[in-house]
Amino acid sequence: MAGFVRPAHPEGDSRPRDGCGVFAVFGHVDASAHTALGLHALQHRGQESAGIVSYDNGHFNTHRSLGLVGDIFSSPNVMDRLTGNAAVGHVRYSTTGGTVLRNVQPLFAEFSFGGLAIAHNGNFTNGYSLRRELVKRGSIFQSTTDTEVLIHLMATSSYHAVEDRMIDALRQIEGAYSIVAMTNDTVFGVRDPLGVRPLVIGVLDDSAVLASETCALDIIGAEFVRDVRPGELVVIDAEGLHSVSPFPAARHRFCVFEYIYFARPDSVVEGAGVYEIRKRIGAELAREAPVAADVVVPVPDSGTPAAMGYASEAQIAFDLGITRNHYIGRTFIEPTDQIRHLGVRLKHNANRASIAGRRIVLVDDSIVRGTTSTKIVEMMREAGAAEVHMRIASPPIADSCYYGVDTPEKEKLLASRLNVEEIATAIGVDSLAYLSIDGLYRATAGANRNDEAPQFCDACLSGDYPIRLIDQEDGDIPTQLSLLMEQV
Ligand code: AMP
Repeated sequence: MAGFVRPAHPEGDSRPRDGCGVFAVFGHVDASAHTALGLHALQHRGQESAGIVSYDNGHFNTHRSLGLVGDIFSSPNVMDRLTGNAAVGHVRYSTTGGTVLRNVQPLFAEFSFGGLAIAHNGNFTNGYSLRRELVKRGSIFQSTTDTEVLIHLMATSSYHAVEDRMIDALRQIEGAYSIVAMTNDTVFGVRDPLGVRPLVIGVLDDSAVLASETCALDIIGAEFVRDVRPGELVVIDAEGLHSVSPFPAARHRFCVFEYIYFARPDSVVEGAGVYEIRKRIGAELAREAPVAADVVVPVPDSGTPAAMGYASEAQIAFDLGITRNHYIGRTFIEPTDQIRHLGVRLKHNANRASIAGRRIVLVDDSIVRGTTSTKIVEMMREAGAAEVHMRIASPPIADSCYYGVDTPEKEKLLASRLNVEEIATAIGVDSLAYLSIDGLYRATAGANRNDEAPQFCDACLSGDYPIRLIDQEDGDIPTQLSLLMEQV
């Protein structure tokens, strides 16, 4: 789920943020408890807020809050209220200028057919244009999220059945999305026609589960059944699961950045284990960009599997030269400018014994604004590294994502302004190399990028946007909606 406003990244918080994670259960007595656990496993996809809506015998129960899943759903008072055999949940990383409770998902609305809860990972690229039309026709929006557009399109649809209304609404929407939704008797799951964002189906006893990633099935002991197919709408009710493909067939363009960074390494995404893929990426990087060094050091945690792959391919020792503090929450980093500035230091510290006097190869998954790399390289020098060589397990990120990954504006992406040599100077390394786009494709798709028909969405790396950016072409979105946000 994304908002319409281009992210206003706080100074010092240079990291792009993934939109969200979604989860749903149908037909289990402990639907909400399982949803809370599933969301906990998806916490890496969004740390700002979380919510669950359950359905129990005529009533929808909701709990949504800012904060982490473990904090929000640890209270028995909260969980006791979330009764029922069906539930949908969401973890969110705000992609709007501000975080407010009314934007926290799942969103819920009362329709002529009854209640509907909806949770969304992704971004509607014509969300603002649709919103403007809907507002002209009298719709009154409660949030600044693009997700709410779907609710209004469903409410004003001339179709009767919920499934038909949803299809009618989705056919008007362009963008990248994985959505789960729930009425009093049905759970829905749908992926955009290109399948940019992930969504999987699992079973737990006799109940059905939908989740952004398989790690959320593992945590509740659910069995992975299959990915929801691109453009597929699955409908789960008392009769079981049926599926429709309401969109014209399109070429599959799964987000390659899920493999590079987002997905948890223990997830199996689109048939491939993320951990294995990351190790393969590291091995490709070692073949493409070897360097004489004494030790390979990962930037934890996301650089670790690629660093292992690099070390093993290059036959160089692997060592944990950086320790990461896992107890640094965002709320701790954000409150004051002074503390924000310390961000990377709070999170990482050099393990001197592995660094001093050695020629090191630092491996990280990506460089976005360059803040992390600059500080880590400085830390390595201070710890006495003889040489610091940086190897990045992805091609340069030179373009923003409009499909649900909250990257900064293009101008703030280091690789949009500087070439590799200039970046090396800017971050202070002895040498720098990125994985090539073909190397990335060899490690993920098993073959070079097919430039005529690319196997993935790699817009952030190639500038090739497979879904029209209608709102961006339209312009003027940020001012209008950020004004609205300020009134909250
Ligand atoms: P930067 O400091 O802006 O160059 O950010 C690069 C760091 O951010 C790398 O260590 C990545 O592991 C990490 N990173 C990449 N993508 C994301 C994301 N979507 N959310 C949070 N961190 C990310």
